[in-house]
Amino acid sequence: MNPAVRAESLINELCISSANEIDVEVIAFDSGIEILYERLYGCEATLVGFGSKAIATISPSSSRGRERFSIAHEIGHWLMHRGKSFRCRVDDIVQNYEANIQLEKEADLFASHLLMPTCLFQPAIKAANRPGLRDLQEIANQFDVSLQAVSIRLALLDSLPVIVACYNKAGLKWSLKSPHIPKRWWLCQKLDEDSFAYDLLYSGKLCPRLAKQPAETWFENDDADQYEILEQCMVSTKDHVLVLLYLNDPEMFNVGFDPNVGKSRFSVKTSW
Ligand SMILES: [Zn+2]
Repeated sequence: MNPAVRAESLINELCISSANEIDVEVIAFDSGIEILYERLYGCEATLVGFGSKAIATISPSSSRGRERFSIAHEIGHWLMHRGKSFRCRVDDIVQNYEANIQLEKEADLFASHLLMPTCLFQPAIKAANRPGLRDLQEIANQFDVSLQAVSIRLALLDSLPVIVACYNKAGLKWSLKSPHIPKRWWLCQKLDEDSFAYDLLYSGKLCPRLAKQPAETWFENDDADQYEILEQCMVSTKDHVLVLLYLNDPEMFNVGFDPNVGKSRFSVKTSW
């Protein structure tokens, strides 16, 4: 079963009807997992199973959202990948998506849907209309998850024309597009000096709300200068900025394939 469907079925079985009822420790206990908190080195969580019982060890974090994601991720491994032991860099999208570790991706997807099931997450997004990063932070608080986890879930929800990306001074670390955004739109690998994200990273200038930007600031495509998009950014981890882009111009969805951006590079990240 698809990890997302599996997680959401569990939420249904438990008759959970609000975000604050998603107690991952209770769900873990019900699934036969004992949770221990212990400093780990080189990973954030481990899972070891014995018969019908398992022990998940979670490295304590200052962010309860990250701990909760780790627990949900290990529940995913236990329910979907029984018989194996795991040492996980949970919620590390660079590690888990770029390294193409299938089981880690599945556990992340499971965790994402367990903590933010569509039946609860979609109404929260809808209520925020076109959420900026501050709205997403409020939703993150409501679901007790990290801002990054909410941003990724928003992109995968595919209800809005959103791209989320993370950059540092070296360039693009990872990005995720709503699946309905044409793959021809190719993000710049380095931050453009005219982007708000550049100002934030290099000068600390905050970007409090979504604001218009020429699309050429963000895309390598030659015709990007014909369109406008919306950008907002926020510091995520040290030296990294989380960027939220909205492709609001419907014309950006009507243009065809662009032969001038790297085909081979498409194939690397098309699943995003
Ligand atoms: Zn894992």
